[in-house]
Amino acid sequence: MKRNALAASILLVLLASAWLLASSPRAPKVVVLGFDGADPALVRKYMAEGVMPNFARLDKEGGFQDLRVTNPPQTPVSWGAFITGWNPGRNQVFDFLARDIETYKPRFALMQEGSRRFLLGRHTKWAFAAIGLLAGLALGCWAAWLLRRRSVPGARWVPALAGVALAAGGWAFSVNYLPRRVPEAINHLKGTPFWERAASEGKRCLVFRVPDTFPAQPYPEGRLLSGLGVPDIRGRVGTPYVFTTDPSLTAGDNEFSVDIVPVPLDGPQPARVHIQGPFNKPFYEYVVDDAGGCATDPVVRAKLRQKEEERLKARGIAPTVDIPLDLTWDEAAGTCTYDVQGQSATLKRGQWSPWVRFDFALNPLVHVHGLARFYLLQAPPDLRLYLSPIHVHPEDHGIPISYPRDYAEQLMRRFGVYKTMGWAIDTWTISSGLADEGQFLSDVENTESDFERMMVSLLEDADWDLYVQVYEFTDRVAHILWRYMDEGHPLYDPAKAPAYQEAMRKAYIKMDRIVGKALAAMPEDAALLVLSDHGFASFRRAINYNRWLLDHGYLSLQADTGVMTLEDLFDDDRLLFKNVDWSKTSAYALGLGNIYINLRGRERQGIVSPGEEYDALCRRLQEELPKIVDPATGERAVHAVYRREEIYRDFDPDVVPDLRVTNTPNYRVSWQTSLGGAPESLFETNEKAWSGDHCSLDPSFVPGLLLSNRPLRPNPDMLDLAPTILDLLGVPPNQDLEGQSLVRPDRP
Ligand SMILES: [Zn+2]
Repeated sequence: MKRNALAASILLVLLASAWLLASSPRAPKVVVLGFDGADPALVRKYMAEGVMPNFARLDKEGGFQDLRVTNPPQTPVSWGAFITGWNPGRNQVFDFLARDIETYKPRFALMQEGSRRFLLGRHTKWAFAAIGLLAGLALGCWAAWLLRRRSVPGARWVPALAGVALAAGGWAFSVNYLPRRVPEAINHLKGTPFWERAASEGKRCLVFRVPDTFPAQPYPEGRLLSGLGVPDIRGRVGTPYVFTTDPSLTAGDNEFSVDIVPVPLDGPQPARVHIQGPFNKPFYEYVVDDAGGCATDPVVRAKLRQKEEERLKARGIAPTVDIPLDLTWDEAAGTCTYDVQGQSATLKRGQWSPWVRFDFALNPLVHVHGLARFYLLQAPPDLRLYLSPIHVHPEDHGIPISYPRDYAEQLMRRFGVYKTMGWAIDTWTISSGLADEGQFLSDVENTESDFERMMVSLLEDADWDLYVQVYEFTDRVAHILWRYMDEGHPLYDPAKAPAYQEAMRKAYIKMDRIVGKALAAMPEDAALLVLSDHGFASFRRAINYNRWLLDHGYLSLQADTGVMTLEDLFDDDRLLFKNVDWSKTSAYALGLGNIYINLRGRERQGIVSPGEEYDALCRRLQEELPKIVDPATGERAVHAVYRREEIYRDFDPDVVPDLRVTNTPNYRVSWQTSLGGAPESLFETNEKAWSGDHCSLDPSFVPGLLLSNRPLRPNPDMLDLAPTILDLLGVPPNQDLEGQSLVRPDRP
């Protein structure tokens, strides 16, 4: 009887656990779609018109809320907080630009190029010589043994001769063909991406073009295609080319660093020009650096460098790897034909070429492959042939644009070639006045349709637990078309406005369609989050903080800085703040709204004492800057000046800017301030196509948006996303996350 009772209780326990297992909800799959710069006010407007049915559906199911975003509300900053669940001061991506306290030299806050030793560095040649020697001796001994059996005289010398020959060969091979150092990308974002946390709990995570993910980092069972941060083949955010016969366009005269290449109009055809390719750092720059590196005297160092440069030049090695491009044109037909590396096509005005593959040989063994497309902007005789920035080819595993390294190539084999650059849509050429809306909008369409198509298939695979993808077009379109949305913008054109207001509307309808396709492709019980990193506002006027700091005695210059360009950020001779008199400078502006105090003991030539003097200076700037009035409009340009302690926690005081200045709508930090220049006037009218912005506004003016098919807690903050996603996946969040899950409204 007792035995029966025991058996019965065991059975009961087993049944109960089976029932519990069956009824306990399995954590669903989670899909997160990000739309850079999607503005909640515009979404509400278009939803009211009834053209965003999928957003309306999510609004009903889980709600549609404004999302509090980071200060500053910039793309790399806001997505950095999204990824790590850490505030920008703590994760150290707090602007596009940061500075080196030693040299005051600016660097990209998110990503930097460094270099690492290749094999054994300068000792590689010895290793190759030693391997050659040993191999030569071994082969020589074997040959000598064979020769002796045939009684060939002198056989005993063969091992030594073979050893010396192969040692010399190994040495020469290493010196001529192997680099000592190779470039390396360094991502400065601190903290742990939420997908790495999820992966550590066994979740399969697919991360697709999320900003701040270059170089691609490994995680268990991970698949990741990097987003914003992936450079073009020249290592830049994006350098487009315009080949032109128009002599009024000259190279280097635009802030956006479009590479303008003159084409001789009257010379023989085909006209030969060159496409500048990657910097040959391993076989030129590092070699020249190493040659000069052994001297401490700057004069001797310069001489050694020059000698090395001449030696390399004589061997045909240049700082950049350029490839020839032959152009012929037919004025009567209005066409232009390109011929590059055996690929040729004839283009009419407004026509894109197929993808062109580029093979840049750094030396006979080391090649870098790229992809780009031509577009004929203007027919001859005023030829303007555009070439997009050159993307890293997905087949090129040398640059870590994906994890696993061959994942980018796997995607290409399945879906065809696609753009790999982080900032994939060219906003620079139109902002420089060199391209038109037609070219820009077709670029938007080509780029996004590829990623949309890939998304649908990847979602349908359902071989993931977490799928995260970020689209960029919503941001790029607003930056360029905002002048048609705002009647008060200096470039507002009533004749063109209706067409481009419609283009803007179509971009949002496209976003809605993408959400609809995702809902249809993902498993029915999956959770969906849709968010943006900030909204948008008009950019009518620009303010130069360095000019204001100069005029008010905070900054002192020995000579005018001249007009700075993006390319100057990479040029030591054009070094930002080269002309600043640091002994008379107490504060300087860099990036999109950051002010640094020239602090003694921190900055190399700091003059402001920590403590009372520092505090008083910060307070004075906090009081004075918001009083600035734009004489042209009578409006105040500065909304608030925040001490870093007010907006960040757990930050590194050596790295994070002392003050964050935020603008009121219609104003933005000028391009020149952000690049470290100090032009004559405090205010400028914005007459560039880059007419909408968000980067330096107070985040309260440009919230992001958040929608879900699950009900979420009100008043969400970007820092809440990482804990929310982990919660939806059923993964306990890491302890150091700063936000709260939005899933359970009862949680305090
Ligand atoms: Zn933007």
